[in-house]
Amino acid sequence: MRVRDYLNAKYGNGATSILACEAKALGIPYPTPSGWLKTYGQAEITPEAQQRLRDALMQSNKPSAQDGLRVLDGLLVDNDEPSGKYLFNALKPTGKAHLWKAGIPSLGIEPDTACRMWSTGGLNKHRKGWMLSNATDREICTMCMNGANNRF
Ligand SMILES: [Zn+2]
Repeated sequence: MRVRDYLNAKYGNGATSILACEAKALGIPYPTPSGWLKTYGQAEITPEAQQRLRDALMQSNKPSAQDGLRVLDGLLVDNDEPSGKYLFNALKPTGKAHLWKAGIPSLGIEPDTACRMWSTGGLNKHRKGWMLSNATDREICTMCMNGANNRF
């Protein structure tokens, strides 16, 4: 997971804010210099940085620290893949996981969930907390299971 993915999951897409303790854990200067997201947003959060981030969030009393921990909890494995097989909302612990189809840009096929709720608006893209992961212990969306083999 990249710094930008973490922030988007935690604060909503297009996030530009970061807590001082998060910046410190991720090696980002704080107060953040202008254009910091361009410089640091693509950086991969290594397992070590993830541990530092978790420790910092546990000690923080900022309201959004809990959201950060939920995002980290959603990340069961894998730091190498920029995307994942499952889409779910880290801030909605009871929500199901959807099967994520990466899409084929050359054919004009956009990424979507197998149930197509992502593209059709059944899922609110603007909600905070969406993230992709290659592992999940959540229940899988039934419509995704039914539609999983039909799309491509
Ligand atoms: Zn689904």
